[in-house]
Amino acid sequence: MAANASVAFDLPPLPSYTLTERQPVFPPIPDNAVALFLPIIAYWALSGIYHYLDVNNYFEQYRLHTPAELLKRNRVSRWEVSRILIPPEMTGLDDYNVATWAQRVRIAQRAIPTILTILGLDAPGLAKSVSQNGHSILAGALAGGSYPGMVQSMILDNGAEVTAPAFAGWELALASFVYWYFVPALQFLIAISIVDTWQYFLHRAMHLNRWLYVTFHSRHHRLYVPYAFGALYNHPVEGFLLDTAGTGIAFLLTGMTNRQAMWFFTCSTIKTVDDHCGYAFPWDPLQHFTSNNAAYHDIHHQSWGIKSNFSQPFFIFWDRLLNTQWKGEVKLRYERARDNAQKQVDMETAQATEAAANEVTTPAIEPQPVVVSSEGPAARTRLRRKTVDSLKGPSHGVPGSVLHN
Ligand SMILES: [Zn+2]
Ligand SMILES: [Zn+2]
Repeated sequence: MAANASVAFDLPPLPSYTLTERQPVFPPIPDNAVALFLPIIAYWALSGIYHYLDVNNYFEQYRLHTPAELLKRNRVSRWEVSRILIPPEMTGLDDYNVATWAQRVRIAQRAIPTILTILGLDAPGLAKSVSQNGHSILAGALAGGSYPGMVQSMILDNGAEVTAPAFAGWELALASFVYWYFVPALQFLIAISIVDTWQYFLHRAMHLNRWLYVTFHSRHHRLYVPYAFGALYNHPVEGFLLDTAGTGIAFLLTGMTNRQAMWFFTCSTIKTVDDHCGYAFPWDPLQHFTSNNAAYHDIHHQSWGIKSNFSQPFFIFWDRLLNTQWKGEVKLRYERARDNAQKQVDMETAQATEAAANEVTTPAIEPQPVVVSSEGPAARTRLRRKTVDSLKGPSHGVPGSVLHN
């Protein structure tokens, strides 16, 4: 009975499965909660490291901006974070899915004899001679996925024992590789392209449209000297549209699992923080993985580069394709901004020293008779306001130069 039953199978059968809830990566915290918090933890952890370097003046030679610039050119120092809620998922399908891929591998082998014939080879003859030389697995593949000797016995639902075809070891190994590595890598790559595409066009639209720029995006551009935790400093609507919706759409379209999403959201956050870190490290893998790095995005934060380098956060192919990549000189412009900020700091230090010196000498001077004048206090107020304004750096109005035409 067993031998007769095997003819019912065209392909090696798929295993049965039981669905159970997937064990979390960091038990007892469920994966969906980790997916929510890991990017935030990563954001603060990486930002914390960069902040530590900032305050201790470590690796100054790699800094894109000086502390004076940080002090004088930025107008804000706040941040926004975004989240996405994901339901828990089930597991137990892994062996079944691997077997599904193994069946596809088996079906794909059916094309081998045709391909060999097109190439002018005698496929059946080749399979026969390979088999005679003892390479039965290779012979099976050359014959179009025919492995007559490879069988397994299995118990059907009705209790009958049958003999069914089995997968070759290499078929299962290839299927495992495809299922565990190739497909997830492809999903990551597609997700990255979706996020890059989404962010490029939305980001560029925010520079094209004056209303979008003034209402939302101008807030992120208050940072002329980006630093790590300023990465997600943006309008909540922009944070949601650009970061949350972008990665969320990529997650849904690529059919990622919650666990994959957890790493994807975390990687996207880490990349965004790193792009605003303010350092051009020669050894930071994140800065060499693609052409889009801290130095590249920093140009977009400068008044002269704001109409270019819209690509974020991973690759720069859209800037290249649509010719929006900054091609001009960079070094001199950075030096000029650095010198101006330093001059401002020096000037204020000198003024402060002068004022302190005057304060010391003041008590020695005889108190002046009070002259009532309408000009006096007003003039003082004007003077004070002028000093405060001068500390604010570039005007936060919207000059035409920030809008991409
Ligand atoms: Zn921008
Ligand atoms: Zn930015």
